[in-house]
Order: sequence, then C-alpha cells, then structure tokens
Amino acid sequence: GKLLGFAKVTRDITQRKHTQERRELELLRDAVRARDEFLSVASHELKTPLTPLQLKLTALLRVVENNPSATLPVERIARDLEVARRQVRKLSDLIEDLLDVSRISMGQLRLDRAPMDLAALAREVVVRYAPQSAQVGCAVTLEAATPIEGNWDRARLDQVVTNLLTNALKYGAGKPIHLRVRLDSGLAVLSVKDEGIGIPHEDQPRVFDRFVRAVSERNYGGLGLGLFITQQIIEAHGGVVQVRSIPGEGSTFTVMVPPGSDADVTLKPDAPPE
Ligand code: ADP
Repeated sequence: GKLLGFAKVTRDITQRKHTQERRELELLRDAVRARDEFLSVASHELKTPLTPLQLKLTALLRVVENNPSATLPVERIARDLEVARRQVRKLSDLIEDLLDVSRISMGQLRLDRAPMDLAALAREVVVRYAPQSAQVGCAVTLEAATPIEGNWDRARLDQVVTNLLTNALKYGAGKPIHLRVRLDSGLAVLSVKDEGIGIPHEDQPRVFDRFVRAVSERNYGGLGLGLFITQQIIEAHGGVVQVRSIPGEGSTFTVMVPPGSDADVTLKPDAPPE
C-alpha cells in the first residue's frame, strides 16, 4: 500500500494521424486515377468504331453523289454498309454494357424468367457467331447431348454465352474452342474452353471485377465489363461462374446455374460509400 512512485506514458499521435490521413489521401488519389483512366479508356473505346463508320458513310455519300444514274457500284456500297453496320453494333453493345453496369450498381438488374433450353441457346449463339469464328480461324465445337431445361432469363443467358464465346474468339484466335453443356448434380453446367493466351495467375481472381483487364492483353481492346456483367447475371440466377486458366495455354470458363424457380432474385444495390 506504499506509493513508491508513478509512471506516466504519453504517446504523440500526431505522426499516426498524419500517416492515416496520408493513406486516406493516397486511396482517394488512386480512386480518382482509376476513374480518370477508365474514362479515358471508355471514351477511346466508344470513339474507335466511329472513325471507320464516318469514313465509310462519307465514301458512300460521295459514290451516290457522283453517280446520279442507275449505274451504282452496288457491291461496294453493300460492303461499306456492312462495315458501318458492324461498327454501329459494336458501339451500341459497348454502351449497353455501360448501362448494364449502372443498372447493376443501382440494383435494377431484374430477371425475366421463363422455361428454356440452355443447350439450344448455346447452339444458337455458336451458329450466330459462325461467320466471325471462321474469320478469326477458330473451329468452334459444341457438346450438348440432351436439352438442359430450366427457368431462366433467356436474353440474359444469351448475353452470358455470347460474352464467353466472344472472349474465347478474341483471346484464342486461330485455335479451337469447345463449348459443353451438361447437367451435374442437378445444376446446369456450361463451359467454354479456348487454347488462347490464358490469364496470368495474379489476374485470375480479379477478372470478374468491373473495369478489370488482365495485364497480358492491353492490345486487344475492351472495357473489362463483360465478365463482371456475366458474373452478376449468373449470381442473380443463384449460380456461380469460375475460371481455370494456364497462361500461354488457354482458359476454361464454367458457369453453373440451378434449374431456377419463379422467384426472381434482384441484386442488392451497391453499399453507399462510408
Ligand atoms: P474485355 O472487354 O476486356 O474482354 P471482360 O470482362 O470480358 O472484358 O474480360 C476481362 C479480362 O479478362 C479481359 O480483359 C482479359 O484480360 C481476361 N479474359 C477474359 N476472357 C479471357 C479469355 N478467354 N482468355 C484470356 N483472357 C481472358
């Protein structure tokens, strides 16, 4: 009970406070940099299809202006129109993806479920992309023995199959692509396998994040939205999507969805920033 002395400990927290403030500032700067980078990539991507479109339309206009008679070079006009049409399509797909992302972050991606066959849908997408597959030198095969039926949103699953197939065509040009649709433990399983550039191991966990693109493929173009939207659509159906990839050897994307009920799942809106 005898007081021998006392000790007082004080800690100068100025430094710690400064460190924390500095870290917050750095995070903010990173976010702003990421946003600016995205805006610059996005505007570049949105603008790119417009240049050939304008050129082709100008050329068409000249041809028509200089040929008031009925001797128009119909074949050339048709070819140019086809290029213009493809570019407009590309642009509207990009804009549609951006709109989907804002729908998702506002919790407005709703499913319109109806009975459908996933195997038939996969076949339809493969046929739709047959000309493009031939153009990039990909032999696309589909393995789907029986109908795979479920209660899903057809337009949204079309988007998923299209995203996975067009990625395989883009990153696996010149190599075979194999799609497989099957039932496994009551789940519908769709896989898309390519033998393309693959994805670096460190990027694999991030490719489903919005605006993320693997470092290996800066020259391919794209906004890094397709897989994010794909994952959101599959999760809204109560399913999962996974990737297995070996850099330099290829990638396999696998989607698993339960047969589905009538109950629609609406995605939760993004949590508001703290
Ligand atoms: P992007 O429009 O950039 O292709 P995605 O969201 O579809 O956007 O894909 C995100 C990233 O994942 C791509 O930028 C690419 O790095 C990688 N990726 C997606 N699919 C493949 C694939 N089949 N092979 C290799 N890399 C892929």
